[in-house]
Amino acid sequence: MLRKIVIPILAFALLGTIGGTTTMADTGEMAGTTSASEVWRALQRLQTTATVLHTVAHPDDENGALLTWLSRGQGVRTALYSTTRGEGGANLIGPELFDALGIVRTEEHLAAIRYYGIDLFFSSAVDFGYSKRLDETLEKWDYQMLLEDMVRLIRYYRPDVIISRFEGNRRDGHGHHQASGVVTLEAFKVAGDATRFPEHLAEGLQPWQPKKLYITRSRWRRSDTETADTPVLKIDTGEYNALLGLSYAQVARQGLSYQRSQGVGQTRASKGSSLTELQLINTTLSEHPKSEDSLFDGLDTTIVGMARLANAPTLNAEFTQLQESVNAAIRDYDARQPWTVVPHLASGLKTARSLMKKIQEIDLDDRTRSHLLFLLRNKEREFMTATNAALGLSLEVLVQPAGTRSSETFTVAIPGQKFSIGMRMVNPAPIAAEFVNASLHMPEGWNVRQAKTDSDIEEGIGTMQTNEPVSITFEVEVPQNAAYTQSYWTRESEYHDAVYTLKHPEHRFLPAAPPDVHGVVTYRVDGVDFTLTQPAKTRSINRPWGEKRRLLTVAPAISLSVSPHIGVIPISGSA
Ligand SMILES: [Zn+2]
Repeated sequence: MLRKIVIPILAFALLGTIGGTTTMADTGEMAGTTSASEVWRALQRLQTTATVLHTVAHPDDENGALLTWLSRGQGVRTALYSTTRGEGGANLIGPELFDALGIVRTEEHLAAIRYYGIDLFFSSAVDFGYSKRLDETLEKWDYQMLLEDMVRLIRYYRPDVIISRFEGNRRDGHGHHQASGVVTLEAFKVAGDATRFPEHLAEGLQPWQPKKLYITRSRWRRSDTETADTPVLKIDTGEYNALLGLSYAQVARQGLSYQRSQGVGQTRASKGSSLTELQLINTTLSEHPKSEDSLFDGLDTTIVGMARLANAPTLNAEFTQLQESVNAAIRDYDARQPWTVVPHLASGLKTARSLMKKIQEIDLDDRTRSHLLFLLRNKEREFMTATNAALGLSLEVLVQPAGTRSSETFTVAIPGQKFSIGMRMVNPAPIAAEFVNASLHMPEGWNVRQAKTDSDIEEGIGTMQTNEPVSITFEVEVPQNAAYTQSYWTRESEYHDAVYTLKHPEHRFLPAAPPDVHGVVTYRVDGVDFTLTQPAKTRSINRPWGEKRRLLTVAPAISLSVSPHIGVIPISGSA
């Protein structure tokens, strides 16, 4: 008699190790941060405090055209929150399934959002496959866990407006979709209530009440939800952007096309008008508008609005000055020489920092103070982003090839390895920028030593000459006990667990843990300090496709994986 037994074949691979093929997506330079169009976008961003959060269940559920229009067209601070990483689907481009597919889809989504120009967040829920019913989904994921997660994100990101892709009923189809809708509708109601999830307050978060909640309307849903007194906002995401040479819908489709494992976005977007319809389903504004011209009707999203919030007459002049610096930068913007706005940006950053200092000192209630500092810290980052872009500043942090004529390097570092990392900075603009310092940040226990500086700039401050590279080399040693680069989320069983355990809860919501190694340069314009940060990368050339740059990651010297993972073999001698 033939006896068969199923035994798992030993696998030596470190599950979850991010290897050479799944490092951060390299989409080339479309998403390059220094083009004249990026400078314009950064200036648009500076003039508003408007913030939008779009919620979905899976990668590809999003309305990318709307997100791109908001971020690239209106300067709105915009984020997408996906309940899952899409682990439960099929994979059209490789063998990865379940958690490995979740990593692939995360990378694809990171590529897409570079086109949308937005922030991306995930909950800890796992896409466990198709679910027909809401109650089944909520049983596997735990409703309280989902709600706590979304409320925490709302308190962390502080959106004025939430746009839910789903409305939380059977019209959404998939149980995951319904769950995303139900939780979004509830989170809108409770995020501002200090008695809900009070543990967030102990962690330094504040209650936050978004002002408006919309759902995106689909063609097939239209007749179900339309009523005479429901305002519907129509947005033309087919609007053309001359600096990009494309409409927002076209840019978004290019981003979506990176979601290749599920084969979406493979056709080009049509040119011309393309309407997105949004239906307002909840608002805290006292006057429920009959019709709206903008998502932000009834909200004050101006810089001067911050002064009204502070309600401190001694600060009014400085808030006005902040507004004037932004106005002047927008007025003087010239796509042929975007650096002409840099003096206005330096002045604006100086004012923002002065305001932050004063707001910490004056008499204000804690919530107002916390929110003003939050808004001004965003502005501080935005001024730096705009200035880095306007100067056309480039910073490369690259592993150096080891004594060969090739420019290729290893793709993954191993414990005990020694190598060089070069930081190369170029300021192409005819604007005097002083180099203040450069440093390489790495995990604890790594050895790093600055080896040489091959330019006139030695230790300390010097002026960067226009378009003359400043290069600094560091010698790096990875310790024998270095941690391997891994995803920060994990689960014991891909078959039974529907929610991830976070090995590093401090990275919660992020698509991936921050890079292990990154370079930081500080420079000074008109007496104001700016920083520029870049992760360290390796280089390889994949002929005929060209150069690939990947994040510097650490993996075991040898790793094996056995395929298939499970085999059925006879254990008796006779067949
Ligand atoms: Zn979906």
